[in-house]
Amino acid sequence: MAGMKSGAAAIVILGAGALDTARRIQAALPGAQVHALTGRVAADLSFTELGTHLRALYAQNTPIIALCAAGIVIRCVAPLLANKNGESAVLAVAEDGSAVVPLLGGLAGVNVLARQIAAALAVAPAITTSGELRFGTCLLNPPAGYALADIEQGKHFVSDLLAGAATRIEGDMPWLGEAKLPQQHDAAHVIRLSPYAWRGDAQELVIHPRCIVAAVAGGTQIAERVQQALTAHGLAPAALAVLLLPQILAGEAGVAAAAALDVPLRLAATPDRLAGIVGEVLHGPDAEVTLLLASQPVDADLIGHARGRLSVLGLGPGRADLLAPAARQALDDATDVLGYDTYVQMAGPFRPDQHVHGTDNREELQRARHAFELALQGRRVVMVSSGDPGVFAMAAATLEALEASDDPRWAGVELQIIPGISAALATAAEAGAPLGHDFCMLSLSDNLKPWAVIEQRLQHAAEADLVMAFYNPISRARPWQLERALEIVRGYRTPDTVVVLGRDIGRPGGTLTTLTLGELQAAQVDMRTMVLIGSSTTRRFALAGGKAWVYTPRWYPQVDGSPVKTD
Ligand code: SAH
Repeated sequence: MAGMKSGAAAIVILGAGALDTARRIQAALPGAQVHALTGRVAADLSFTELGTHLRALYAQNTPIIALCAAGIVIRCVAPLLANKNGESAVLAVAEDGSAVVPLLGGLAGVNVLARQIAAALAVAPAITTSGELRFGTCLLNPPAGYALADIEQGKHFVSDLLAGAATRIEGDMPWLGEAKLPQQHDAAHVIRLSPYAWRGDAQELVIHPRCIVAAVAGGTQIAERVQQALTAHGLAPAALAVLLLPQILAGEAGVAAAAALDVPLRLAATPDRLAGIVGEVLHGPDAEVTLLLASQPVDADLIGHARGRLSVLGLGPGRADLLAPAARQALDDATDVLGYDTYVQMAGPFRPDQHVHGTDNREELQRARHAFELALQGRRVVMVSSGDPGVFAMAAATLEALEASDDPRWAGVELQIIPGISAALATAAEAGAPLGHDFCMLSLSDNLKPWAVIEQRLQHAAEADLVMAFYNPISRARPWQLERALEIVRGYRTPDTVVVLGRDIGRPGGTLTTLTLGELQAAQVDMRTMVLIGSSTTRRFALAGGKAWVYTPRWYPQVDGSPVKTD
C-alpha cells in the first residue's frame, strides 16, 4: 500500500479563471504544481490536451486536483479505472473554490487531501465514503509506518461496523484517537496492531507496524531467506521496515532483494549488531539471517547508511544551458564533488553542506579511488569532467580503477555515467556541421600512449579522408607534436582543406576561427583549443550579408564522380 501513496499533487486548470483558486490550493500543499492548458493560461507547467495529460498523471500515481467539472475528469480517466487497488487520488474542485469533490482513490488518501484543500478554501469537502463519514477516518488507509494486513478483509470489517457492530482496539494506534469508532471493551470485533501475520479471523482488522529490520550477513537468495525467516516466526512480510546488508551484498543481488521485499535497502558493516534500536532479536534456522523486532515502526533512514552512489558526469563545454538536466540533478543531489579544480568551479556554486574536493588534473586513478571510498560511506559523489566524461576524461579512468580494484565492496556502489556535450560537438555546432559525415576523434597527447601510435593513426585517418577532431592538441610539455601531426595530414590533404579552431567554446571569451590547412600554424593553437580538420568534401560558404558556415555534406562522391546520398 505504501507504494501507492505518491508525491506532490498536480493542480490542473483550463483557463485564467481558475488560477487564483489553484494558487490558494497550492499554498496549502507543499510541492504541488499548477498545470495549465497551453494557449489559455500560463502557470508552473503546461499541457496541450486534457485527456492525455490526466491519464498520464493518473498512470504515474500523481494525485490530480482538476479545477473543472467532475464529469469531464471522470470521462478523461475512465479508460484506466478497471483496477481499483491501484487507484490514484483524483479530485474535482469548482473553479471558484466553492466545492471540493473527491472522486477516486479512497485508499490513496483522497479524503485526507479533500479535507486539506477544503480547509484551505474554507468550504466543506463533499466526502461520500461511508466509513469516512461515520468514523471520521479511513480505517483502510493507515499512516506512514503502518500497513493494512488484508484489503478485502478490511472492507468486510468496515461493512460490519457500518452495519452496527462495535469494536475493540488493541495496540497503540494514535491516529484512531480522532476517529468516532463504535468502541466496546468486550466487542467481538477487534482492530489489532501486530507484526504477526493475520490468521484469517473475519472479526479482526490487523494493522502491521513496519517494525522489523531484516539483517542478512551473507549468501544468495536473500529475499527468499528473509521471507522464510519471517514465516518461521509467524511474522507478516508487510511488517518489514528495512533490509540491512553488509556493503559486500549491496550490488545487483541486494538491490533486487530489497525490491522483491518492497522495503528500502540500507547498509552496515556489522548488520547484526544494531546499536540504538531497542527490540527483540530473533534467530532462525538460517544463521546468516537475523530479524530485529522493534516495539515501534522503524525509520529506515536512521538504520545504517544508504547505498552510496558515484555519478561520473560531463559538464559540456561550459555554458549552463548546455549541461544535461540529468547532470544538473546529480550535481544538486551530491554530497561530495570531485574533479579538476577548474571544472569543479565551472560546476558550482555549491551549497555549504556539499563537500568539494578539488585536485590536480594528473592524479586521475587516485581521484577515482577516492570517489569509490567516499561512496562506500553511503555518500552521493559526483566526479566532474568537461565535455563528455567518456571522451578523454574521467569515465574510463573510473572504470579502470574499478576493474583493477581488489576491494569487492566497490561492486555495491551505484555507478552511473552521465553524458555531456563534447568539445568537438560544441565547436562543430558553432561552425555549422563540419562533422556532418564520417569523422574521428583523436587525442594528440602522448602522456598515456606512444607517439608512434598517434602518428600511425593520424596517417590512417588522413588517408581515409575522415574529418578529424584533435583533442589535447598542444601544451607546454608537448610543444612540437602538433606541427608534426599537421605535417602528416598535409601529406594527404590539399592546402585549401577547411580547418575550424574553437577556443574556450561555450565559455566566456570563446572564439571560433575558420581557416585553411595551408594557413594553419601551431602557434594559433593552445590546450584550450579544439582543432577540426575538414575532409576533402568539407565546404564553407556565406550568402550575401549572412554568416559564414562550414559543413561536410552527407553525400560522398562515387568513384565515377556522381554524388550519392549516404543515409
Ligand atoms: N572530455 C572533454 C575533453 C577533455 S580533453 C570533452 O569531451 O570535451 C581536453 C581537450 O578538450 C582540450 O585540450 C581541448 O582540446 C578540448 N576542449 C575542452 N573544452 C573545450 C572548449 N570549451 N573549447 C574548445 N576545446 C575544448
